[in-house]
Amino acid sequence: MGSSRTILIAGAGIGGLTAALALVRVGYRIIIAEQADSLGDVGAGIQLSPNATRILNALDVGPRLKTTAVVPDGVSVRHARSGSEIVFMTLGHGAQFRYGAPYWMLHRGDLQAGLLEAVAEQPDIAIKLGTRLDDFAVHTHGVTAQLSSKQSVSEERVLGIVGADGLWSATRARLGDKTRPGFRNRTAWRAVVPSSMVPDQFRRPVTYLWLGQNAHLVHYPVRCGTLINIVAIVRDRWNEPGWSAPGARDELFRRFTKDEWAQDARDLLAMPEDWLKWALFDRDTAGFPGQGPVTLLGDAAHPMLPFLAQGAAMAIEDAAVLARCLGSPDGDPASEMRRYETTRKNRVRRVQHAARANSRTYHLSGASVVARNLAMRWLGGERLRARYDWLYDWRPD
Ligand SMILES: Cc1cc2nc3c(=O)[nH]c(=O)nc-3n(C[C@H](O)[C@H](O)[C@H](O)COP(=O)(O)OP(=O)(O)OC[C@H]3O[C@@H](n4cnc5c(N)ncnc54)[C@H](O)[C@@H]3O)c2cc1C
Repeated sequence: MGSSRTILIAGAGIGGLTAALALVRVGYRIIIAEQADSLGDVGAGIQLSPNATRILNALDVGPRLKTTAVVPDGVSVRHARSGSEIVFMTLGHGAQFRYGAPYWMLHRGDLQAGLLEAVAEQPDIAIKLGTRLDDFAVHTHGVTAQLSSKQSVSEERVLGIVGADGLWSATRARLGDKTRPGFRNRTAWRAVVPSSMVPDQFRRPVTYLWLGQNAHLVHYPVRCGTLINIVAIVRDRWNEPGWSAPGARDELFRRFTKDEWAQDARDLLAMPEDWLKWALFDRDTAGFPGQGPVTLLGDAAHPMLPFLAQGAAMAIEDAAVLARCLGSPDGDPASEMRRYETTRKNRVRRVQHAARANSRTYHLSGASVVARNLAMRWLGGERLRARYDWLYDWRPD
């Protein structure tokens, strides 16, 4: 591939793959450098709200996901100790009607497969697996990327670079921001079990959100309802980077005591034999330290806590806005990348703050729990959902 209309994307995560699909549509050729040797099935679920599915539909990825996605009727917010429902926030087909795009619960492996299938159909996208972006040098007509694999070190002259290389982004460090993401004293434990193992009530197309003291639990069906994705989030000091450290079930179980958690929730937590855990990070200085024809996207730019289920959605939104900016006929990549960064800044900050606010609200203790639950009940499901109109009704233009 020549450098004239070629952009190099570092990272084949949800952000990198979506950016490739969006940029190829506005006339670019794309090289994706992905450090992993293979893109394996990621054993966990993901919720995608209408602001993200709208974009995936426009990129023809939606129809590939639709076959396995579960459309939730809504979110059942529950009191951890009593197990009773505090409020039911309706989503379902009403959300599709209201926002013009569905809310989906997916297996991450299915999302990745849908994106990869769409990428494979584009002759102008090349994926180089087992290849890291190590460095780059900006020059008058573009940028030279330094790549390395187990076998060799190589260079690629391209028009621009998009660092979609995640939380520990090397592109961000190379742009001069050497600060580390901040650990937020919480870990997320995840597991997937066959839905045949769980009681009928938890097989419904619903996101269950149990709120406890210093912990919460989320579970929902994925892959046509055949699997249940379970995520438990607890306060913790363990903060090693990575996606898939094994977690001991007994250790997790000790956090969900009989005194604090209803038996139904404890029964569910006892089902998976294997748990994997993530330490949760975000950044105070979330943003885009782009320079010249180099920019960031997704977690590399603005990692956020998963309390609003929006990290991947923001990466997908970034991809759509970047393609709109770089798609203008006469613009030069550096100034169009700055325009993209300015366009995205306030939106991602607002979402990041909302996720942090939820992290406090979800884990309250003492008298504030009663106040929170009363406020949720008073608001009711419809008004609770309407509070997210600004988030779900967003469009790239
Ligand atoms: C518990 C939990 C639940 C979540 N639930 C949701 C949810 O329901 N909905 C939602 O929208 N979001 C959710 N998120 C957030 C979401 O998972 C992330 O925001 C999203 O995966 C980020 O995608 P990304 O492409 O930016 O980065 P990543 O997925 O981290 O991808 C980065 C890629 O870059 C590669 N890479 C790294 N360095 C280099 C390099 N130098 N050269 C080449 N390749 C490199 C990596 O191997 C990786 O493949 C959740 C997060 C957590 C922790």
